[in-house]
Amino acid sequence: MNQHFAVFGMPISHSLSPRIHAAFGRQTGIALDYVAIEAGPADFATKLQAFADAGGVGANITQPLKGLAAELATTLSERAQRVGAVNTLVRSEDNRWHADNTDGTGLIRDLAMRHGLDLRERRTLIVGAGGGARGIAPALLDAGIGELFIVNRTPERADALADMLGRPGHVHARYLGDVAVLGEFDLVINATSANRGGTLAPLPRSLVGRRTAAVDLSYGEAAIPFMAWARATGCYAAIDGLGMLVEQAAESFKLWHGVRPDTNPIFTELSSHSAGLVTAD
Ligand code: NDP
Repeated sequence: MNQHFAVFGMPISHSLSPRIHAAFGRQTGIALDYVAIEAGPADFATKLQAFADAGGVGANITQPLKGLAAELATTLSERAQRVGAVNTLVRSEDNRWHADNTDGTGLIRDLAMRHGLDLRERRTLIVGAGGGARGIAPALLDAGIGELFIVNRTPERADALADMLGRPGHVHARYLGDVAVLGEFDLVINATSANRGGTLAPLPRSLVGRRTAAVDLSYGEAAIPFMAWARATGCYAAIDGLGMLVEQAAESFKLWHGVRPDTNPIFTELSSHSAGLVTAD
């Protein structure tokens, strides 16, 4: 009998997660179904309960529900607790939700293992301070990046993220409007959802030096403007969020099923549909 899984978020129609988990299931011989359920902050709790009542045993959570999912869960992993954002729920046998966040591990695996980036001592800029940024920032620090600057449209959220990370002197929150005076970065990460319905004002060329890698957490059409900026400004690598998506999915799959699937086949398949969007050297 199939085990039931779902991804919750809004909007959710663009999500590749059902396709990725179906591929993992086929590869590992695990019988599962995985659907996308549209839910916003107002109806997430109700829809999650309905999913559980119908036999749902695991879920992924995406924007804008990652903080709310942390509040609804009964127990949180240390990393989910640290960032206050959740992308994976696991239903326990006593019908409670255990929460985790696999975004950070997913990004690090993609950058270090798929793209061969050495993250140590890399001076890093994160643009954005939402759930995605909260998920990746601790993992980047754990991977040994150099100074970390965070800028966000709403400055208070950048401040809150920097406070959560601690390490004053190494982690700095700055105004998005002041980004031109921050100097060059080795790693520039777009962690905004700006291109899903809005526009991120162009970032200055002054951020880019000889060995700048640009990383967008978004993928597909949403990543096109930032990838174009990366190429136009001479970044030596331009990496969209597809690899991270596949890697964080594999980490969730491992939490649910105890086995980590090979991510390369589905990454290759999905990349071929967005040819030209993912480049790195
Ligand atoms: P959130 O809704 O939690 O946060 C959105 C962020 O984008 C906030 O920092 C927000 O700023 C900023 N933002 C939105 N519109 C604009 C704009 N027009 N100009 C400047 N900043 C803007 O979303 P997430 O953090 O969860 O997701 C962000 C992106 O990362 C999404 O595209 C998502 O798909 C992607 N993502 C990809 C993953 C992957 O596996 N590849 C995993 C996680 C996320 P403010 O605080 O001012 O509102």
